Amino acid sequence: MNTANSEKHVVAVFGGAVAGSELVKQLTAQGIHCVVFDQNILPHGKIEDGLPKWHSKQRDSEENHINERMNHPLVHFVPQCKLGRDIFFKEVMSWNFSAVVLATGAWKDRSLPVPEIDDYIGKGLYYQNPFVYWYNHKHEPAFTGTQFEIADNSIVIGGGLASLDVVKIIMIELVTAKLKERGMLVSLVEMNHGINKILAKHKLTLEELGIAGCTLYYRRRDEDMPLSHLAADTPEHIAKAKMTRQKILNNYQTKFLFRFEPCMAPVDKIVENGKLTGIIFRRTQADEKGCVEIAGSEVVIKSPVVISSIGSLPEHVEGISTSNSTFKIEDETSCRISGSANVFIVGNAVTGKGNIADSLHHAKQISAWMLQHFFPNQTPLTEEKISEIIRRATQLQVQKGYDGNYLNWAKLHTPIRLESMV
Ligand SMILES: Cc1cc2nc3c(=O)[nH]c(=O)nc-3n(C[C@H](O)[C@H](O)[C@H](O)COP(=O)(O)OP(=O)(O)OC[C@H]3O[C@@H](n4cnc5c(N)ncnc54)[C@H](O)[C@@H]3O)c2cc1C
Repeated sequence: MNTANSEKHVVAVFGGAVAGSELVKQLTAQGIHCVVFDQNILPHGKIEDGLPKWHSKQRDSEENHINERMNHPLVHFVPQCKLGRDIFFKEVMSWNFSAVVLATGAWKDRSLPVPEIDDYIGKGLYYQNPFVYWYNHKHEPAFTGTQFEIADNSIVIGGGLASLDVVKIIMIELVTAKLKERGMLVSLVEMNHGINKILAKHKLTLEELGIAGCTLYYRRRDEDMPLSHLAADTPEHIAKAKMTRQKILNNYQTKFLFRFEPCMAPVDKIVENGKLTGIIFRRTQADEKGCVEIAGSEVVIKSPVVISSIGSLPEHVEGISTSNSTFKIEDETSCRISGSANVFIVGNAVTGKGNIADSLHHAKQISAWMLQHFFPNQTPLTEEKISEIIRRATQLQVQKGYDGNYLNWAKLHTPIRLESMV
C-alpha cells in the first residue's frame, strides 16, 4: 500500500481487545491513525471478563499482546466510551472517519427458549456472561458488581466449552467452601488440576463433603457437543470428531465431578413465591443433524439456581443493520456492513466463534482486505480533517482522565489478581 496515501486515513475502531487490537496493529503499521473506543477502562474484553481466572498465565500473556498493539503513537485510545451509550453511531459517522470497524465481541447471552423466563433473572436464573464476569472479579476488594449465589444441585443448560467452564466454576466453588469449613485451604491452581485429585489426596468424597454436585443439561448427545473445531466432512472425520467431543466431556467430568444429562430440552419453568425453582425439560431424539422433542416426555427438575450458557450474540447497535440477531454483512471476504460504504466488523462479533485464535485470524484477514481493496480507493483525508478528528478524540480522552500514556494507564487499571492475594 502507498504509505503517502495511507497516512491520510483515520479509522474508528470500537472494541480494542483481541480482534480490535490486531486490526489496529495491521493498520498502524501502514501509517493509518486509529481511534480506539472501548466501553471499559481497559480494552481486554473476554480475556479479562470471559476466560475464567484459572487461565491466569494465558490471560496475562494475551493482555500483554493487546497492550503492545495498543501502545503505538498512531493509536488514540478512548476508554469507557460505549457505542450506543456514550457515543452514537450517527455521531460517529459525522466525524468523517475513513472507516469504522466494530470489534465489539458477543456480550449478549442468547435467551433461554422458555416463555417469560427472563422475568426471573437474578431470582433463580443467571446467564453465563455476567456470571463469569462476577467469578473473575469477585475477589477484588473494590468489586461492587452484582453478586451471584453458588448453590449445590444447580442446573446448567448449555453444551459448548463455556458451559463446561460454568459447571467447573460451580464445582470448584462448592468444594473450596466445604474444604474451608474443615480448615483446608486449597489454591485455585491446585483445584484446576482436578477436584478428583484433591479429594483423593485428602481421602474424601463429594458425598462426605455433603455435595450432590451440579448437572449440565444438553438438548443433544455428548457426541454432538460443539467442543472441538475438528472437520466433520467424511465418515472418518465425523467418527474422530465425535470421539474427541466425548473425550473432552469425559475429561471434564472425571476432574470436576459434575453430572451430565444429554437429550434434554428446557421447555417450561417452575416458579414458587416469585422465584425460579426449577425447569421442565422434554426428552429429545437426537442424531447428527439435530434433535426433536418427544411429546409427553416432560421431566420436572427442581433446583435453587439455573444458569443458562447457550451462547453469546453481539449486542445490537442502533443504526447498524442486523439479521437474526447478528450484524448483516455484504460478504464474508470484506465483512462490510450491508448497505454501508465504510463500516466493517471483525472478531467474535461476526465469526460467532468464542475463540481467541479465530478472532485474531479474522482481524488479520479483514485488515489485509481493507489495506488491499478499500483504502487505495478511498479519498485521503485532508490534514485539517485528520487534526479535527484527533482533537475530538483527545477531548473525550481528557473527559475520561486518560492522558495518552497507554502503558501507564494499563498498569494503573489492571485489576488486583487473585494470585497476588494468596
Ligand atoms: C467462559 C469463557 C471461556 C473461554 N475460554 C476460551 C479458551 O479457553 N480459549 C479460547 O481461545 N477462547 C476462549 N474464550 C473465548 C475468547 O475469550 C473470545 O472468543 C475472544 O477473546 C474474543 O475476542 P474479541 O476481540 O473478538 O471480542 P471481545 O473480547 O469480546 O472484545 C470486544 C471488545 O469490545 C468492547 N466493546 C463491546 N461492546 C462495545 C461497545 N458498544 N462500544 C465500545 N466497546 C465495546 C469490549 O469491552 C471488548 O474490549 C472463552 C470465552 C468465555 C466466555
